[in-house]
Amino acid sequence: MKYTSIWLKDKFDNKIKKLNKNIETDVLIIGGGITGLSTLYFLKDSNLKITLVDSDLIGHGTTSKSTAKINYLQEHIYYDIATKYDIDTAKLYYDSQIEAINKLKEIIKKENIECNLEKVSSFVYANNKKEIEKLKVEKELLQKFGSIVNEINNNEEYAIMVSDTYVFNPVKYLYKLKEICLKNNKEIYEMTKIIDIKKIDNNYICYTKDNKIKTKKIIIACHYPFFLFPFFMPIKTHIEKSYIMAYLDNYNKYTYITSKKPTKSVRFYKDKNSYKLFLSNSVNICNKLDENKNYKELINQNNQVEFVWKNDDLLTLDKLPYIGIINKSNPNILIGTGYNTWGMTNGTLAGLILSDIILGKNNKYINLCSPLRTNNIIYLFSYLYNLLLNMWSYLRSKIIKNKKWYTNVKIVNENGKSIGIYEENNKKYKVYNKCPHMGCSLIFNEVNKTWDCPCHASSFDIYGKCIKGPSEYDISYNKND
Ligand SMILES: Cc1cc2nc3c(=O)[nH]c(=O)nc-3n(C[C@H](O)[C@H](O)[C@H](O)COP(=O)(O)OP(=O)(O)OC[C@H]3O[C@@H](n4cnc5c(N)ncnc54)[C@H](O)[C@@H]3O)c2cc1C
Repeated sequence: MKYTSIWLKDKFDNKIKKLNKNIETDVLIIGGGITGLSTLYFLKDSNLKITLVDSDLIGHGTTSKSTAKINYLQEHIYYDIATKYDIDTAKLYYDSQIEAINKLKEIIKKENIECNLEKVSSFVYANNKKEIEKLKVEKELLQKFGSIVNEINNNEEYAIMVSDTYVFNPVKYLYKLKEICLKNNKEIYEMTKIIDIKKIDNNYICYTKDNKIKTKKIIIACHYPFFLFPFFMPIKTHIEKSYIMAYLDNYNKYTYITSKKPTKSVRFYKDKNSYKLFLSNSVNICNKLDENKNYKELINQNNQVEFVWKNDDLLTLDKLPYIGIINKSNPNILIGTGYNTWGMTNGTLAGLILSDIILGKNNKYINLCSPLRTNNIIYLFSYLYNLLLNMWSYLRSKIIKNKKWYTNVKIVNENGKSIGIYEENNKKYKVYNKCPHMGCSLIFNEVNKTWDCPCHASSFDIYGKCIKGPSEYDISYNKND
């Protein structure tokens, strides 16, 4: 059994180019997941100089750990949007998802991408009265929007089903996009992390550890932005994590998901073998911090598990993504994130919207997804909710950091600083036990041997190197500090 995503099991012919000099570009895309690479792909024919950087290998972030359903049947999202806004807004979101699905299919066909795309039926399932009522409304809305929806009504269990949804292998897809963009003279640098952005006159200077990139426009496609201002993501979203396992099983052409949290979700994947992917244990990031227990709970359900991993995504309270300009006074910084665990469609949609904004074209989904919509009074509740969640995560991280659910780990105080010590084979690995992002204490993850932030999901290895943001800095111990 491997503690890694099934999508990362294949070897890719990947020539890695790391930035080793100062450069200038017209547009800098920060992040090479589905958002960044889709945007780069849609801009590939423009005469603009476009550069994409990724702190890791492209496609190795959240996208590589998803269940990769390409689906417009997203729990009861149209019910939620229609309740929060109105039916027209729900319909516009539906149209955006259908357009994204069609675009993905079109690219895969046109570029001849081998990424195991399969048409499947998808179910959303509920077994309590309240959820069943929501699904019934969801069905009516979908029918009104033009979708063919079936229902399965079985005593106390109820499901809705559509048959025009898809699944694929997201990493194979992204590697092909990378290849196509490189052939179109677009620049891609991997293992190149942006740690700061400064505005100087009409340009932005983006800093890596050793180099600078001067650019006119920036697209933040790094999932969780590594800077706090001007968008201040912690009060606009919260993070949900889930655990996924893949085991050998007969192939089936369906997916399902529960309508209610904690989510359970299933899909199948076939290459040389066929696998069932099962997702469960979805919780808010600050809960269920004993990773050993979390993984065991999942693995114990099946003794044939080949791959097991976890993933997290940003949830917005109105269920709509944040795609577009983040601040009126910084119209040249754009973002694509907050996909509510539906990033295959929304990452593609972000690519369409962001590339249109860069090219000065109109796009009918700009207002729907605009991050500027949050400047509205109706978001006050959302801000308060997320603020309280942040405070709760912060306090929890401080209170429970010493909990003894892991062996070989000590948290000590040295000169007023909290130090985490992990011991393996009589060797001690020390780190500062404070996340550089917003100061939360870190929790040791016994399974992946990482220090994880229970507030915004940054992660550090036992040497203190930041392996996942939003933190842009390491927590390596320096005895001279
Ligand atoms: C458990 C789970 C299951 C999911 N299943 C599905 C599903 O079935 N279908 C679906 O549609 N969606 C699904 N999603 C959602 C989807 O995975 C995400 O919304 C989507 O992958 C986000 O893509 P992204 O490109 O924004 O981010 P990422 O894929 O994380 O890409 C961001 C990239 O930015 C890089 N980066 C970060 N910081 C920096 C920096 N400072 N400098 C340079 N580069 C940086 C990272 O290395 C990374 O490669 C799921 C999510 C979860 C949590």
